[in-house]
Amino acid sequence: MVPELSVVIPMYNEEDVLPLLVQRLRPLLDGMGVTYEVVAVDDGSKDLTPALLHRHHREWPALRVLRLRANAGHQAAISAGLAAARGAYVVTLDADLQDPPEVIPEMLEAARRDNVDVVYGVRNDRSTDTWFKRVSAQTFYRFIRVMSGTSAHADAGDFRLMSRATVDAVNSLPEHNRVLRFVVPALGFPSDTVEYKREERAAGSTKYPLMKMIRLSVDSLTGISTAPLRLATIAGFVGAVFAILLIIYGLVARAQGHTVAGWTSTVAIVAGVGAVQLVCVGILGEYIGRMYAQLQGRPTYFVAYDSLAESSPRHGPTDTPLPATPREEHIPTQGVRRDQDGATKAPAPANPAPLG
Ligand code: UDP
Ligand code: MG
Repeated sequence: MVPELSVVIPMYNEEDVLPLLVQRLRPLLDGMGVTYEVVAVDDGSKDLTPALLHRHHREWPALRVLRLRANAGHQAAISAGLAAARGAYVVTLDADLQDPPEVIPEMLEAARRDNVDVVYGVRNDRSTDTWFKRVSAQTFYRFIRVMSGTSAHADAGDFRLMSRATVDAVNSLPEHNRVLRFVVPALGFPSDTVEYKREERAAGSTKYPLMKMIRLSVDSLTGISTAPLRLATIAGFVGAVFAILLIIYGLVARAQGHTVAGWTSTVAIVAGVGAVQLVCVGILGEYIGRMYAQLQGRPTYFVAYDSLAESSPRHGPTDTPLPATPREEHIPTQGVRRDQDGATKAPAPANPAPLG
C-alpha cells in the first residue's frame, strides 16, 4: 500500500531529541487523516539513535527505520530517504524540531489546493540562529544568486514538501553531492511557499560544524554554476593586463633614465599574481574533483537496513534492536530502478569503500 505522505527525517547522533520528536510528530500525523510513513534515516549515528529508533518502531509501525552504513552527511541522508520514500507527497524535515512539524498539514493543504509540486518552508524569523549563521547564510545566498541566477529562496532550507513527480525527478538525477535546496528550485516545477518561525534546537547540539558548512557551500556553488570558473578567467585577464601595464611603465621609466626602485613592490606583485593563480587552480580543482567523483560513480551512501524490508512476511519480525547481519543492500544514487513496493535492487559491492 502506498501512503499519501512520507516524512523523511535525517538523523545523526540525535538521541537527545528523538523522544521529543516522536512525542510531537506522532499525534500530529495521526490527526491529519492521511495514510503516512515516517522514514527516519539514521546517518551512521554512533550514539543510541538506532536503538531508540528500533524501540519506537515497535510501538509505531508507521515509523520506518532506514540505517546507513556510515555517516554520509545531511544531504546524502536526505537523498537516501527520498529514494526510499513511497508517499504521493514527501516532506523532508530536520530531526531537531527547528522546523515545526505543525507546518506539515499547511504544506500538504497548499500543495493540494494550488496543485503545485513543491511547497517550500520559508523562515520568516531567524532570530534563534546565531549571528554568525545568519550573516554567513545571507551573504552566501546572495552570492549564489548573483553567480548563478538561480531563484532559490534565501530563507528556505531543507524543510519542504515535494510531489511524487518531483521526488522521482530528483531521484533520477545522476549528480553526486547534490544540494537539494538548490537542485529542487532548479527543476522549476510549480511551487508555493509556507512561512514558519525557525525554532531553537529542541535538544542536543548542532551536527553542522564549520567544516561541514564550508563543504556544503562549495558543493552548492560548484553544483549549480560554472560561474566561478569564469571568475578565475576574469581574474587571470585582469592580472595579465596589470602585468602588461607594469612592463610598459618599467620600459618608459628606464628610457627616461630613472630606475624602478622597490624590492617590496616586486615581491608584492609576485605574491599577488601567485595568489590569483592558486585561487584559479583551486577553483579548477573543485570542478575536476566533482568530475572525478562523477566518473567513479560511487554512491554517496550505503543502506545497511530498512525496517520495511525487514518486516515483510518473508523475513518475519525481528527482536534484536540492531540486526547482527543486516541485509546486504546498497543503493547507489543513480542507475537504479525502484519497484512498485519501493524495494531497490542492486548487488552489494564486495568491499564498499566510503567516499572521500
Ligand atoms: N544530519 C545528518 N547527517 C550529518 C549531519 C546532520 O543526518 O552528517 C542531520 C541532523 O541530525 C539534523 C539535520 O541533519 O536532523 C540538520 O542538522 P543540524 O540541526 O545539526 O544543523 P543546523 O540546524 O545546526 O544547521
Ligand atoms: Mg538544526
